[in-house]
Amino acid sequence: MYRVLLAGLKHEVNSFSSGVADLDTFRRNVLFEGADVLGSGRGSGQEIDGVVAVARAEGVELIPVIDAYAGAAPPVADAAYEYIRDRVLAAARAEAGRLDGVMLCLHGAMATESLEDPEGDMAAAVRAIVGSRMPIAVSYDMHCHFTATKASAPDIIVGFHTHPHVDFYDTGVRAMRLLVKAMRGEAKPVVAYRKLPMMASAERHNTSLPPASEVMGRCLEMEQEAGVLAATYFPSQPWMDLSELGWATVVVADGDRALAQAKADELAQMCWQRREQYLVHKTPVRAAIEKALGGAGQPWVFTDSSDSVSGGGHGDGNFLLRELLATGYADTALLTLTDPEAATACFAAGVGGQVTMPLGGKLNPQFFQPVMVSGRVKTLTDGKFTRDLPPSPKNAGPTAVLQVGTIHIVVTSYPVQTIDTSAYHMAGLEPRQYKIVQVKSPGGFRAVYGPFAAGIFELDAPGPCDSELPRLPFKRIRRPLWPFDPDLPAPW
Ligand SMILES: [Zn+2]
Repeated sequence: MYRVLLAGLKHEVNSFSSGVADLDTFRRNVLFEGADVLGSGRGSGQEIDGVVAVARAEGVELIPVIDAYAGAAPPVADAAYEYIRDRVLAAARAEAGRLDGVMLCLHGAMATESLEDPEGDMAAAVRAIVGSRMPIAVSYDMHCHFTATKASAPDIIVGFHTHPHVDFYDTGVRAMRLLVKAMRGEAKPVVAYRKLPMMASAERHNTSLPPASEVMGRCLEMEQEAGVLAATYFPSQPWMDLSELGWATVVVADGDRALAQAKADELAQMCWQRREQYLVHKTPVRAAIEKALGGAGQPWVFTDSSDSVSGGGHGDGNFLLRELLATGYADTALLTLTDPEAATACFAAGVGGQVTMPLGGKLNPQFFQPVMVSGRVKTLTDGKFTRDLPPSPKNAGPTAVLQVGTIHIVVTSYPVQTIDTSAYHMAGLEPRQYKIVQVKSPGGFRAVYGPFAAGIFELDAPGPCDSELPRLPFKRIRRPLWPFDPDLPAPW
């Protein structure tokens, strides 16, 4: 029976979000060790679940080490990363003589206080322990920050095929199937990649629509072609101030590196030719409010993606709230805001209590300022709920629904993603019953909100996930890089 070391590590850095992500951040999201990686709390359709399914079907014994997920957040504290890495490396050392393969389910866009590419470093350290002949497979999120280091250790690299991401499980299945083939000697996977000097915000990464559907469609075609084992492109998390920032295409071929390189180059050409189509042109907030008020039906979904929690924002960006109050907006609206102080004040006032306080805008002062509100506490909850996409336990901390005029604000103690409706449902609120619903997500929300939204406005607002990348205070990125250098000629 083949024996495979299994570990998961996920975090998506936002360099413009203040603070650090520590082990408590992982614990609030996912931190399982040993047999718990395969057992309690899992089975919710993650990559690891796909890996487990293939392992069972193929009679592979998994050696589960750790599964850690911090969401999208500021850089990871060095000590938290070292805790996780050291467990993976210790297990690799302990098992090295009895292993046939290694499976790492990673995100790819992690950075720590000290390291720009901790996942690449960890995979390289695993390779150094297990030796050059053992197959190593890695699965990545589409927003992987792909680097030369990441290309160096694995034999197999696969990425998501969907945005909004819904193929977590399938990605694990694809990676594990290739690892099984490699262990059996039925395939000799080789990796080639092409790095691209371009970046674009996440709003146009949607694989159901051009241009992303065309690029991903070609990846899927390639995977059916002779000699190609896996093909993907990584449009990358845009809000990382890292020296190697830029898109990449990655192809795994069966023993033919030249074929893999030719296919990776073809995908890179497709990305470059479509780069202008990936730019986003957003709507000023006041214009969006006017259009929603004049439009039929509800809800009008307002994407405050510059403070996207799924992009690493703290979720305390109150730009939309400020504009709603300033314009005397009198229809219904539903918002989320992270503000632990305000949540505490609501709990002190109790249900039905009146509060007057500064709200939001406290966690990332380079982008936001608090706004004064007076309102009534409608409900109080412990903030624990199950997220729908992907299904996973979440904890928003003590959470209040504050009613300010006709506006309902879900005030959470910790950031919550609003890719789906579960954070609103947790607070007992139904987005369909509001004229305006705010989501703090650049694109992932469309799978859930798209079918019932009366319309969608992408708001032009400030924040750590601004789609106008040149407006952000990047310092480390290597130039030239499009669109920072808009006249950059084709890189080949
Ligand atoms: Zn992603």
